[in-house]
Amino acid sequence: MFENTERTNLDQMGEFGLIEHLTKHVELNEKSTIKGIGDDAAVLDFSNKKTLISTDLLLEGIHFDLRYVPLKHLGYKAVQVNLSDIYAMNGIASQITFSIGLSSKFPLEAVEEIYEGALIACKKFNVDLVGGDTSASAQGLIISVTSIGYADEDRIAYRSGAQEGDLLCVSGDLGAAYVGLQILEREKQVFLDNPKIQPDLEGKDYIIERQLKPEARKDIVQLLDSLDIKPNAMIDVSDGLASEIIHICKQSDKGCKLYEDKIPLDQMTYDTAREFGLDPTVCALNGGEDYELLFTVPQSAYDKLRNLPDITVIGYITEPNAGYEMISKSGNVYPLTAQGWNAFKK
Ligand code: ADP
Ligand code: MG
Repeated sequence: MFENTERTNLDQMGEFGLIEHLTKHVELNEKSTIKGIGDDAAVLDFSNKKTLISTDLLLEGIHFDLRYVPLKHLGYKAVQVNLSDIYAMNGIASQITFSIGLSSKFPLEAVEEIYEGALIACKKFNVDLVGGDTSASAQGLIISVTSIGYADEDRIAYRSGAQEGDLLCVSGDLGAAYVGLQILEREKQVFLDNPKIQPDLEGKDYIIERQLKPEARKDIVQLLDSLDIKPNAMIDVSDGLASEIIHICKQSDKGCKLYEDKIPLDQMTYDTAREFGLDPTVCALNGGEDYELLFTVPQSAYDKLRNLPDITVIGYITEPNAGYEMISKSGNVYPLTAQGWNAFKK
Protein backbone atom coordinates (compact mmCIF):
# COMPACT_ATOMS: atom_id res chain seq x y z
CA MET A 1 0.00 0.00 0.00
CA PHE A 2 1.81 3.11 -1.17
CA GLU A 3 0.29 6.42 -0.16
CA ASN A 4 2.38 8.42 -2.61
CA THR A 5 1.39 7.96 -6.25
CA GLU A 6 4.63 9.20 -7.81
CA ARG A 7 7.07 6.53 -8.91
CA THR A 8 10.77 7.21 -9.17
CA ASN A 9 12.72 4.21 -10.38
CA LEU A 10 15.45 3.15 -7.97
CA ASP A 11 17.81 2.11 -10.77
CA GLN A 12 18.28 5.77 -11.65
CA MET A 13 19.55 6.54 -8.17
CA GLY A 14 22.03 3.78 -7.49
CA GLU A 15 22.76 2.36 -4.06
CA PHE A 16 24.83 5.28 -2.79
CA GLY A 17 22.34 7.84 -4.04
CA LEU A 18 19.55 6.00 -2.28
CA ILE A 19 21.42 5.70 1.02
CA GLU A 20 22.34 9.39 0.90
CA HIS A 21 18.74 10.33 0.08
CA LEU A 22 17.24 8.23 2.87
CA THR A 23 19.67 9.17 5.59
CA LYS A 24 20.43 12.84 4.94
CA HIS A 25 17.99 14.03 7.60
CA VAL A 26 19.02 11.53 10.25
CA GLU A 27 19.92 13.25 13.52
CA LEU A 28 22.02 11.86 16.33
CA ASN A 29 20.81 12.68 19.81
CA GLU A 30 22.08 9.93 22.08
CA LYS A 31 25.17 10.72 24.08
CA SER A 32 26.40 7.13 23.66
CA THR A 33 26.61 7.59 19.87
CA ILE A 34 30.14 8.64 18.91
CA LYS A 35 29.81 8.00 15.16
CA GLY A 36 26.67 7.14 13.19
CA ILE A 37 26.07 6.61 9.47
CA GLY A 38 28.92 7.27 7.05
CA ASP A 39 31.85 5.11 8.01
CA ASP A 40 32.48 1.37 7.90
CA ALA A 41 31.04 0.94 11.37
CA ALA A 42 29.24 3.02 13.95
CA VAL A 43 31.09 3.82 17.19
CA LEU A 44 29.26 3.70 20.52
CA ASP A 45 30.30 4.26 24.12
CA PHE A 46 28.35 2.79 27.02
CA SER A 47 31.10 3.45 29.62
CA ASN A 48 30.20 1.39 32.69
CA LYS A 49 26.94 -0.12 31.35
CA LYS A 50 26.41 -3.54 29.79
CA THR A 51 25.51 -3.50 26.08
CA LEU A 52 22.33 -5.22 24.84
CA ILE A 53 21.92 -6.25 21.19
CA SER A 54 18.98 -7.83 19.43
CA THR A 55 18.14 -8.40 15.77
CA ASP A 56 15.08 -9.33 13.70
CA LEU A 57 14.55 -10.31 10.10
CA LEU A 58 11.22 -9.49 8.44
CA LEU A 59 10.29 -11.05 5.11
CA GLU A 60 7.41 -10.07 2.85
CA GLY A 61 4.84 -12.84 2.63
CA ILE A 62 6.16 -14.46 5.82
CA HIS A 63 6.01 -11.71 8.43
CA PHE A 64 3.90 -9.08 6.70
CA ASP A 65 1.42 -8.76 3.87
CA LEU A 66 1.71 -5.55 1.86
CA ARG A 67 -1.87 -5.91 0.68
CA TYR A 68 -3.03 -4.40 3.94
CA VAL A 69 0.02 -3.13 5.75
CA PRO A 70 0.83 0.49 4.87
CA LEU A 71 4.58 0.89 4.31
CA LYS A 72 4.88 3.67 6.86
CA HIS A 73 3.34 1.41 9.50
CA LEU A 74 5.66 -1.38 8.45
CA GLY A 75 8.76 0.78 8.99
CA TYR A 76 7.38 1.89 12.34
CA LYS A 77 6.48 -1.62 13.46
CA ALA A 78 9.80 -3.10 12.33
CA VAL A 79 11.59 -0.71 14.70
CA GLN A 80 9.09 -1.11 17.54
CA VAL A 81 9.17 -4.88 17.68
CA ASN A 82 12.92 -4.82 17.78
CA LEU A 83 13.15 -2.20 20.52
CA SER A 84 10.71 -4.33 22.48
CA ASP A 85 13.43 -6.99 22.85
CA ILE A 86 15.77 -4.48 24.50
CA TYR A 87 13.03 -3.36 26.90
CA ALA A 88 12.31 -7.04 27.64
CA MET A 89 15.84 -7.24 29.10
CA ASN A 90 14.89 -4.29 31.34
CA GLY A 91 17.25 -2.12 29.32
CA ILE A 92 17.01 1.18 27.47
CA ALA A 93 17.39 1.11 23.69
CA SER A 94 19.69 3.78 22.28
CA GLN A 95 20.56 2.92 18.65
CA ILE A 96 19.32 0.85 15.73
CA THR A 97 20.64 -0.21 12.38
CA PHE A 98 18.08 -0.60 9.61
CA SER A 99 18.74 -2.79 6.56
CA ILE A 100 16.55 -3.27 3.53
CA GLY A 101 16.39 -5.53 0.52
CA LEU A 102 14.23 -4.11 -2.27
CA SER A 103 12.78 -5.87 -5.28
CA SER A 104 12.26 -3.96 -8.51
CA LYS A 105 8.57 -3.33 -7.80
CA PHE A 106 9.49 -0.70 -5.19
CA PRO A 107 9.90 2.89 -6.34
CA LEU A 108 11.79 5.44 -4.26
CA GLU A 109 8.52 6.77 -2.85
CA ALA A 110 7.76 3.38 -1.29
CA VAL A 111 11.15 3.23 0.41
CA GLU A 112 10.68 6.79 1.65
CA GLU A 113 7.46 5.74 3.35
CA ILE A 114 9.16 2.83 5.10
CA TYR A 115 11.89 5.17 6.30
CA GLU A 116 9.44 7.80 7.43
CA GLY A 117 7.77 5.25 9.71
CA ALA A 118 11.10 3.94 10.98
CA LEU A 119 12.34 7.44 11.80
CA ILE A 120 9.11 8.36 13.60
CA ALA A 121 9.66 5.32 15.84
CA CYS A 122 13.31 6.32 16.42
CA LYS A 123 12.31 9.80 17.43
CA LYS A 124 9.53 8.66 19.69
CA PHE A 125 11.75 6.18 21.54
CA ASN A 126 14.88 8.33 21.55
CA VAL A 127 17.05 6.01 19.53
CA ASP A 128 19.61 7.02 16.91
CA LEU A 129 19.71 5.39 13.49
CA VAL A 130 23.43 4.64 13.18
CA GLY A 131 23.71 2.45 10.10
CA GLY A 132 22.31 -0.29 7.95
CA ASP A 133 22.70 -1.95 4.62
CA THR A 134 20.85 -1.53 1.35
CA SER A 135 20.54 -4.10 -1.39
CA ALA A 136 18.42 -5.26 -4.28
CA SER A 137 16.29 -8.33 -3.57
CA ALA A 138 15.29 -10.90 -6.18
CA GLN A 139 11.82 -11.17 -4.71
CA GLY A 140 9.87 -9.17 -2.18
CA LEU A 141 10.79 -6.75 0.54
CA ILE A 142 13.24 -7.66 3.30
CA ILE A 143 13.80 -5.58 6.41
CA SER A 144 16.28 -6.32 9.14
CA VAL A 145 16.57 -4.19 12.25
CA THR A 146 19.22 -4.50 14.92
CA SER A 147 18.71 -2.63 18.13
CA ILE A 148 21.34 -1.73 20.65
CA GLY A 149 20.80 -0.61 24.20
CA TYR A 150 22.26 -0.66 27.65
CA ALA A 151 21.53 -1.48 31.27
CA ASP A 152 23.31 -1.64 34.60
CA GLU A 153 24.47 -5.21 35.04
CA ASP A 154 22.36 -5.75 38.17
CA ARG A 155 19.18 -4.44 36.45
CA ILE A 156 19.23 -6.86 33.50
CA ALA A 157 16.21 -9.19 33.59
CA TYR A 158 16.86 -12.58 32.02
CA ARG A 159 14.19 -15.13 31.15
CA SER A 160 15.91 -17.49 33.57
CA GLY A 161 15.57 -15.45 36.77
CA ALA A 162 12.07 -16.39 38.02
CA GLN A 163 11.89 -17.52 41.66
CA GLU A 164 9.36 -19.76 43.37
CA GLY A 165 6.58 -17.61 44.82
CA ASP A 166 7.19 -14.72 42.39
CA LEU A 167 4.13 -12.91 41.09
CA LEU A 168 3.57 -13.33 37.35
CA CYS A 169 2.67 -9.92 35.87
CA VAL A 170 1.83 -8.54 32.45
CA SER A 171 1.52 -5.00 31.13
CA GLY A 172 -1.40 -3.62 29.11
CA ASP A 173 -3.94 -6.01 27.58
CA LEU A 174 -3.57 -9.08 25.40
CA GLY A 175 -5.06 -10.65 22.28
CA ALA A 176 -5.94 -7.38 20.53
CA ALA A 177 -3.28 -7.62 17.82
CA TYR A 178 -4.46 -11.09 16.87
CA VAL A 179 -8.12 -10.11 16.73
CA GLY A 180 -7.13 -7.00 14.72
CA LEU A 181 -5.38 -9.30 12.25
CA GLN A 182 -8.56 -11.35 11.86
CA ILE A 183 -10.39 -8.19 10.79
CA LEU A 184 -7.68 -7.20 8.31
CA GLU A 185 -7.63 -10.72 6.87
CA ARG A 186 -11.42 -10.75 6.55
CA GLU A 187 -11.47 -7.39 4.80
CA LYS A 188 -8.66 -8.47 2.49
CA GLN A 189 -10.74 -11.46 1.46
CA VAL A 190 -13.81 -9.29 0.87
CA PHE A 191 -11.66 -6.95 -1.22
CA LEU A 192 -10.16 -9.81 -3.25
CA ASP A 193 -13.65 -11.14 -3.95
CA ASN A 194 -14.98 -7.72 -4.92
CA PRO A 195 -12.52 -4.82 -5.19
CA LYS A 196 -15.39 -2.32 -5.24
CA ILE A 197 -16.26 -2.99 -1.60
CA GLN A 198 -14.48 -0.67 0.81
CA PRO A 199 -13.00 -2.26 3.94
CA ASP A 200 -15.31 -2.16 6.93
CA LEU A 201 -13.05 -1.20 9.82
CA GLU A 202 -15.65 0.97 11.55
CA GLY A 203 -15.25 1.17 15.30
CA LYS A 204 -12.34 -1.28 15.36
CA ASP A 205 -9.55 1.31 15.52
CA TYR A 206 -7.99 0.10 18.74
CA ILE A 207 -7.49 -3.52 17.76
CA ILE A 208 -6.39 -2.67 14.22
CA GLU A 209 -3.85 -0.22 15.61
CA ARG A 210 -2.62 -2.90 17.96
CA GLN A 211 -1.89 -5.07 14.92
CA LEU A 212 -0.50 -2.41 12.58
CA LYS A 213 1.13 -0.07 15.04
CA PRO A 214 2.19 -1.77 18.27
CA GLU A 215 3.90 0.30 20.95
CA ALA A 216 6.93 -1.17 22.71
CA ARG A 217 6.67 -0.78 26.49
CA LYS A 218 9.63 1.43 27.33
CA ASP A 219 7.27 3.18 29.76
CA ILE A 220 6.93 -0.01 31.81
CA VAL A 221 10.71 -0.37 32.12
CA GLN A 222 10.88 3.23 33.33
CA LEU A 223 7.92 2.75 35.66
CA LEU A 224 9.47 -0.32 37.31
CA ASP A 225 12.74 1.56 37.67
CA SER A 226 11.02 4.55 39.27
CA LEU A 227 9.32 2.20 41.77
CA ASP A 228 12.64 0.53 42.44
CA ILE A 229 11.27 -2.83 41.33
CA LYS A 230 13.68 -5.16 39.56
CA PRO A 231 11.86 -7.97 37.72
CA ASN A 232 13.46 -11.33 38.43
CA ALA A 233 12.57 -12.51 34.91
CA MET A 234 11.13 -10.74 31.87
CA ILE A 235 10.16 -11.42 28.24
CA ASP A 236 8.10 -9.55 25.66
CA VAL A 237 4.85 -11.09 24.43
CA SER A 238 5.52 -11.63 20.73
CA ASP A 239 4.20 -15.18 20.28
CA GLY A 240 1.29 -15.31 22.71
CA LEU A 241 1.07 -15.38 26.49
CA ALA A 242 1.19 -19.17 26.86
CA SER A 243 4.45 -19.73 25.05
CA GLU A 244 6.11 -16.73 26.75
CA ILE A 245 5.13 -18.02 30.20
CA ILE A 246 6.57 -21.39 29.30
CA HIS A 247 9.82 -19.78 28.09
CA ILE A 248 10.26 -18.10 31.48
CA CYS A 249 9.35 -21.26 33.42
CA LYS A 250 11.58 -23.55 31.34
CA GLN A 251 14.58 -21.27 31.47
CA SER A 252 14.07 -20.66 35.20
CA ASP A 253 13.36 -24.35 35.89
CA LYS A 254 10.07 -23.49 37.62
CA GLY A 255 6.34 -24.16 37.27
CA CYS A 256 3.48 -21.67 37.29
CA LYS A 257 -0.16 -21.09 37.96
CA LEU A 258 -2.03 -18.75 35.64
CA TYR A 259 -5.57 -17.54 36.40
CA GLU A 260 -7.75 -17.24 33.31
CA ASP A 261 -10.00 -14.61 34.88
CA LYS A 262 -6.99 -12.35 35.54
CA ILE A 263 -5.78 -12.21 31.92
CA PRO A 264 -6.26 -8.56 30.86
CA LEU A 265 -8.53 -8.27 27.82
CA ASP A 266 -9.85 -5.09 26.27
CA GLN A 267 -13.62 -5.04 25.79
CA MET A 268 -13.33 -4.54 22.01
CA THR A 269 -10.95 -7.50 21.81
CA TYR A 270 -13.40 -9.61 23.78
CA ASP A 271 -16.46 -8.65 21.71
CA THR A 272 -14.71 -8.95 18.36
CA ALA A 273 -13.21 -12.33 19.22
CA ARG A 274 -16.75 -13.50 20.01
CA GLU A 275 -18.01 -12.14 16.67
CA PHE A 276 -15.41 -14.32 14.97
CA GLY A 277 -16.43 -17.32 17.06
CA LEU A 278 -13.08 -17.25 18.85
CA ASP A 279 -12.47 -17.73 22.56
CA PRO A 280 -10.95 -14.42 23.78
CA THR A 281 -8.73 -16.30 26.23
CA VAL A 282 -7.29 -18.38 23.40
CA CYS A 283 -6.56 -15.16 21.47
CA ALA A 284 -4.53 -13.90 24.43
CA LEU A 285 -2.77 -17.22 25.02
CA ASN A 286 -1.90 -17.98 21.40
CA GLY A 287 -2.40 -14.80 19.42
CA GLY A 288 0.91 -13.02 19.72
CA GLU A 289 2.23 -9.67 18.52
CA ASP A 290 0.95 -7.84 21.57
CA TYR A 291 4.46 -6.65 22.50
CA GLU A 292 3.48 -6.27 26.12
CA LEU A 293 5.98 -7.20 28.84
CA LEU A 294 5.54 -10.37 30.90
CA PHE A 295 7.61 -10.43 34.07
CA THR A 296 7.94 -11.89 37.53
CA VAL A 297 8.56 -9.94 40.72
CA PRO A 298 8.99 -10.96 44.36
CA GLN A 299 5.79 -10.92 46.41
CA SER A 300 7.20 -8.02 48.40
CA ALA A 301 6.62 -5.80 45.34
CA TYR A 302 2.85 -6.40 45.45
CA ASP A 303 1.96 -3.27 47.39
CA LYS A 304 3.76 -1.10 44.86
CA LEU A 305 2.09 -2.82 41.88
CA ARG A 306 -1.45 -3.49 43.01
CA ASN A 307 -2.96 -0.15 42.02
CA LEU A 308 -1.13 0.40 38.74
CA PRO A 309 -3.70 0.43 35.93
CA ASP A 310 -1.21 -0.83 33.35
CA ILE A 311 0.12 -3.86 35.20
CA THR A 312 -1.91 -6.96 36.09
CA VAL A 313 -0.89 -9.84 38.33
CA ILE A 314 -2.07 -12.95 36.45
CA GLY A 315 -0.59 -15.77 38.50
CA TYR A 316 2.52 -16.92 40.31
CA ILE A 317 5.62 -19.06 39.95
CA THR A 318 5.68 -22.50 41.57
CA GLU A 319 8.20 -25.29 42.07
CA PRO A 320 9.17 -27.14 38.87
CA ASN A 321 7.26 -30.34 39.55
CA ALA A 322 3.95 -28.46 39.74
CA GLY A 323 4.02 -27.99 35.94
CA TYR A 324 2.50 -25.14 33.94
CA GLU A 325 -1.15 -24.78 34.87
CA MET A 326 -4.07 -22.53 34.09
CA ILE A 327 -7.00 -22.27 36.46
CA SER A 328 -10.03 -21.63 34.24
CA LYS A 329 -12.90 -19.27 35.05
CA SER A 330 -14.94 -22.27 36.16
CA GLY A 331 -12.15 -23.42 38.48
CA ASN A 332 -10.88 -26.33 36.37
CA VAL A 333 -7.14 -26.88 36.10
CA TYR A 334 -5.65 -27.25 32.60
CA PRO A 335 -2.03 -27.85 31.65
CA LEU A 336 -0.72 -24.86 29.67
CA THR A 337 0.98 -25.66 26.41
CA ALA A 338 2.87 -23.42 24.01
CA GLN A 339 -0.29 -23.62 21.90
CA GLY A 340 -2.60 -22.32 24.57
CA TRP A 341 -4.02 -24.93 26.84
CA ASN A 342 -4.71 -28.59 26.57
CA ALA A 343 -8.48 -28.58 26.61
CA PHE A 344 -8.33 -27.38 22.97
CA LYS A 345 -5.95 -30.01 21.73
CA LYS A 346 -8.16 -33.02 22.28
P1 ADP B 1 29.52 -0.88 3.21
O1 ADP B 1 30.06 -0.99 1.83
O2 ADP B 1 30.58 -0.77 4.28
O3 ADP B 1 28.43 -1.86 3.52
P2 ADP B 1 27.54 1.06 2.57
O4 ADP B 1 27.93 1.82 1.36
O5 ADP B 1 26.58 -0.05 2.44
O6 ADP B 1 28.88 0.58 3.27
O7 ADP B 1 27.01 2.06 3.65
C1 ADP B 1 27.55 3.34 3.83
C2 ADP B 1 27.03 3.91 5.14
O8 ADP B 1 25.62 4.03 5.04
C3 ADP B 1 27.28 3.02 6.35
O9 ADP B 1 27.51 3.86 7.44
C4 ADP B 1 26.01 2.25 6.51
O10 ADP B 1 25.81 1.88 7.87
C5 ADP B 1 24.98 3.27 6.05
N1 ADP B 1 23.78 2.64 5.47
C6 ADP B 1 23.69 1.83 4.40
N2 ADP B 1 22.43 1.46 4.17
C7 ADP B 1 21.68 2.04 5.13
C8 ADP B 1 20.32 2.03 5.46
N3 ADP B 1 19.42 1.32 4.76
N4 ADP B 1 19.91 2.76 6.51
C9 ADP B 1 20.81 3.45 7.26
N5 ADP B 1 22.09 3.51 7.00
C10 ADP B 1 22.56 2.82 5.96
MG1 MG C 1 26.61 -1.99 2.76
